[in-house]
Amino acid sequence: MFTVNAYAAPSATEPLVKTTIERRDVGPKDVLIDIKYAGICHSDIHTVRGEWGPATYPLTVGHEIVGFVSEVGSEVTLHQVGDRVGVGCMVNSCRECENCLAGFENYCLKGNTGTYGAVDVDGSITQGGYSTHIVVVEDFVLKVPESIPFEAAAPLLCAGVTTYSPLAHWNAGPGKKVAVVGMGGLGHMAVKIAHAMGAEVTVLSQTLSKQEDCLRLCADHYYATSDEATFTDLANSFDLIINTVSALIDINAYLSLLRLHGTLVSVGAPPEPLGVQAFTLFNNRRSFAGSSVGSIAETQEMLDFCAEHGIAPETELVSADYINEAYERVLKSDVRYRFVIDTATLV
Ligand code: NAP
Ligand code: ZN
Ligand code: ZN
Repeated sequence: MFTVNAYAAPSATEPLVKTTIERRDVGPKDVLIDIKYAGICHSDIHTVRGEWGPATYPLTVGHEIVGFVSEVGSEVTLHQVGDRVGVGCMVNSCRECENCLAGFENYCLKGNTGTYGAVDVDGSITQGGYSTHIVVVEDFVLKVPESIPFEAAAPLLCAGVTTYSPLAHWNAGPGKKVAVVGMGGLGHMAVKIAHAMGAEVTVLSQTLSKQEDCLRLCADHYYATSDEATFTDLANSFDLIINTVSALIDINAYLSLLRLHGTLVSVGAPPEPLGVQAFTLFNNRRSFAGSSVGSIAETQEMLDFCAEHGIAPETELVSADYINEAYERVLKSDVRYRFVIDTATLV
């Protein structure tokens, strides 16, 4: 074991504080990563505040991680010292269930090992990316293409793949009308990726305050959901809706915007049930679905897709001592569009 600097939540109700955490020694199949940047995902906030259930404290969160490989185990073949790499929401899975064998580690039937707050192979609780170093088994480490600016690459590891995966699965592309609900970290990536896939993209945000930005980010249309006319004007019009909202919304109002055979995919994860009404689904034979991050193969595919299409998140780089303020701003939807921690400020 060795000790590294980190930021951690001491409990569900206290601010995060600078501390040290233990990392395991590099095993034969492990990679040691010198973390350079870590994104702040709304899931970090849900988790440390206990909104999804009790957590084990102190807890270091962060699952949008990029850095350089600084050591490899004796049996590592996929990565070399000096490589630009990333780690997303999971660091292992059972590797033997039906879903793992089909290449969907994110849907591991035994539950994949989350990057933070999960029980690791050695029985310890995994600690995430708000830290200077992390040790991860090589197959769960992604290659970050050279052409993606490093600090902007971090949010792709969660926000990027969580939106790429449903957009690819439900065939966003030419001739498809896609709506994105909520313009935060995930939402703005959904707009960029759906546009690059060739879909016609509409943003549904609470107010008109992000309209100019969204049109610059390649959205074709923008509507405020605080305006009731939005729901009558857009009734029965979308093939696919990606809901990224972190809070409870009237999901039936959004389902009614789907045209024949349309699908609404919720990736937003409020703690409360979403309350779908059967008759809203009967009309237009609509589908209501969920999607959880993406597999390792899909994450690499997304990174390569973003490199090919010149896509990178809009980021605000912050020092570690700004994390608690950044959380408050995320909660007020005052983020344009992802906070990224410069881990040099942790040293
Ligand atoms: P975020 O940056 O805070 O974005 C969420 C957006 O939702 C806000 O910017 C805001 O957009 C909108 N919003 C917030 N509160 C609202 C309310 N009360 N009513 C209506 N709209 C509201 O969060 P994020 O990091 O993108 O994460 C979004 C959600 O996805 C979180 O719940 C997170 O835990 C979840 N998530 C799920 C997965 C998965 O695998 N499924 C992966 C990552 C994250 P506007 O200001 O534009 O309205
Ligand atoms: Zn996340
Ligand atoms: Zn499995």
